[in-house]
Amino acid sequence: MNVAIPTEQKQMQSIVEKVRSGERLTREDGVFLYQSDDLLTIGQLADEVNRKKNGKKVYFIENMSLYFTNVCEARCAFCNFRKDQGDEGAYTLSGDEMIEYVEQHIHPGVREFHIVGGHNPHVPFQYYIDSLKALKERYPNVTLKAYTAAEIDFFARISGLSYREVLQELMKAGLESLTGGGAEILSDYYRKKCMSPKPMFRNIWKFTGRPTSSVCARIRRCCTGRSKATKTGSTIC
Ligand code: SF4
Repeated sequence: MNVAIPTEQKQMQSIVEKVRSGERLTREDGVFLYQSDDLLTIGQLADEVNRKKNGKKVYFIENMSLYFTNVCEARCAFCNFRKDQGDEGAYTLSGDEMIEYVEQHIHPGVREFHIVGGHNPHVPFQYYIDSLKALKERYPNVTLKAYTAAEIDFFARISGLSYREVLQELMKAGLESLTGGGAEILSDYYRKKCMSPKPMFRNIWKFTGRPTSSVCARIRRCCTGRSKATKTGSTIC
């Protein structure tokens, strides 16, 4: 595959040659690539390296996205999913109601439930625990990937538990990994501006900065997946 390199980009040309010959890039090369806007060349090179290492293999998991509630106290600027309690269209499903929904939509290829939702302050932390328990009991062989870091923070606030205790309770109920998202913006200024004006992450560094225990380390995975069915069709969190 030929890569079109603008002649003036001598350093890019040198990087292309290094990548193709398997030579390790230097720190300066990395900085140059980071600052470059030549995304086509970088993308093509990445694709070449990937194909060399992995051939045509692609790995993914087929999952099913479930949203137990759309009632949310946060007000993220980009969100068109959340509702206030009592709004038209607001819902909070019980475990049995969610199982009824899953029964109607699941198929044998689904290996994971991907669960996120609103930060609903009208139900206790136990509700979120029971939601996971109900699914795990009915579908023991489907992995439970549930809740963003933002939800873990919310649970800690409504329960009075520490992050670790929240995670331990959720894991006892069947939680096996966390969903990605929720803790990408670590600046209070930008979080307030772009996301929720509600206070979040009083101690976010305790959550994201280090694996505080094997418990946390196990679930600090961010994954991607493909949804086959969703409760609302919305993308959230
Ligand atoms: S994105 Fe999630 S946390 Fe933010 S308002 Fe919507 S439902 Fe709530």
